[in-house]
Amino acid sequence: MRTLVWFRGKDLRISDHAPLASALETAATEGDVVCVFTLDPYFFERTRALELPHRMQFLLESLRALEENIAHLGGKLLVVEGKSVDLVPKLAKDLAVARVVAQAWTEPFARARDRIVRERLHVPLELVEGELLTTHGTVRTGQGEPFSVYTPFARAFRRDVKIGKPIPAPKVIPAMGPALTKLVKAHVATRPVPTLGELGITENTSLVRGGERAARERLASFVSSRIARYDGARDLLAIEGTSRLSQDLKFGVLSPRAVWTAAAKSEGVGAEKFANELLWREFTHHILDARPNLLEHPFRQGFRNFPYLEANAEWAAWVEGKTGYPVVDAAARELLHDGYVHNRARMITASFLTKHLLISYRRGEAHYMKFLTDGDWAQNNAGWQWSAGSGVDAQPYFRVFNPVTQGQKFDPDGGYVKRWIPELAKLDTKYLHAPWEAPPLVLAAAGITLGKTYPRPIVDHTFARDRFLKTATAHLKP
Ligand SMILES: Cc1cc2nc3c(=O)[nH]c(=O)nc-3n(C[C@H](O)[C@H](O)[C@H](O)COP(=O)(O)OP(=O)(O)OC[C@H]3O[C@@H](n4cnc5c(N)ncnc54)[C@H](O)[C@@H]3O)c2cc1C
Repeated sequence: MRTLVWFRGKDLRISDHAPLASALETAATEGDVVCVFTLDPYFFERTRALELPHRMQFLLESLRALEENIAHLGGKLLVVEGKSVDLVPKLAKDLAVARVVAQAWTEPFARARDRIVRERLHVPLELVEGELLTTHGTVRTGQGEPFSVYTPFARAFRRDVKIGKPIPAPKVIPAMGPALTKLVKAHVATRPVPTLGELGITENTSLVRGGERAARERLASFVSSRIARYDGARDLLAIEGTSRLSQDLKFGVLSPRAVWTAAAKSEGVGAEKFANELLWREFTHHILDARPNLLEHPFRQGFRNFPYLEANAEWAAWVEGKTGYPVVDAAARELLHDGYVHNRARMITASFLTKHLLISYRRGEAHYMKFLTDGDWAQNNAGWQWSAGSGVDAQPYFRVFNPVTQGQKFDPDGGYVKRWIPELAKLDTKYLHAPWEAPPLVLAAAGITLGKTYPRPIVDHTFARDRFLKTATAHLKP
């Protein structure tokens, strides 16, 4: 039976790829597996691509690696340009396939795409899991409702879900054979994977490398040398204490099941904590699946129409890393430079934007989606809403991170701040997270002139905290 395997950007791998495995199972002869990737203008149109330069770089690298891996096993990835909703039904017809198989996506816009494709197809569209550890919507409360708090979700997940073994990479993918090759020649305009240059994007050499092999190496290095210390190290900003697998999971270069299984071989509190983070990932997707309007609206209804400020000068300072709070500024610069931000720094800086500056989480969310290599709709939205106080959090809204004490606690030696803010590199660690408290002689010895070489704080912490709490209390009162 001929199957079209539709690779769609969140499954850029050959290992543990359920749609590919399913196609191979029913393939009897050459030409029975048609691997397709569509360059949909929704993402690949130049102006759209420029809105996601880091994700696009990682995706293209991973796509090229996928193409090579498929070719290495004897098959061929057909890369085709056009709207998926038009192309996939047309390809299915022209190439005479009996079914189309793809990995399910969580996002509402992707669901809408799939509905249209399904309506237009003359054959079945089978969507299978692989983005998550378990099928969307299957972890429920005793009343059959979706969970809205992480801890009971994780408890139910651990109790009810059995995670199967990852499917090994195939040994062979059947070649297209003369009959299929003829059909492709007659009907399909294939093209090479685009280069960054064609999309108008300048390469950022600081990003992590794409492709399945690089991702496997990252996973192996984490499991062999860092997972045991993960619990203590994951919050420390200056060291590489975490897995750095988020972009691999986002683009499906590694399956969550492969990561879970590799981590489960380790024992101890580090491995346990790491599994909890994978369940946070799972939770954010289950939440978005159950509440598709989360990408537009706050989870907590009370936060609708929250009186956020325009504050364009403060916004620009936050984006450029010039707020005068070193840990916040370090996070901003890390994002633009590396396309990544440490999780603790994401929390501090998102809290700062939404609470200290009273700027809408949606602006921060969009900025992160533009520059994060791991930018993911469900996880990013959950992280921003959690930080803003409007999201799924067992704590009420009134936690306001103090950027100075957070910096002192999680960057005690100042390595993170010094790396990203070289203008503070010579400052005594004692004052690194609050340079305005340093005596003039200490500042002078470090070559710092506040307001000139490094900004003074754009807002006072105590004032900002009170302002947020007063605003939120007034807005949220029943
Ligand atoms: C404001 C904000 C925005 C965020 N945006 C994103 C995003 O767009 N994409 C993204 O993948 N993560 C996002 N996160 C979650 C988290 O910061 C990153 O997943 C993590 O920093 C990635 O580094 P790592 O792979 O080394 O993580 P590790 O600590 O090694 O964790 C392992 C994996 O678990 C998942 N994970 C870890 N923490 C979380 C979390 N809090 N919520 C959901 N999943 C988690 C990730 O897939 C991660 O790769 C955001 C968090 C905040 C506070």
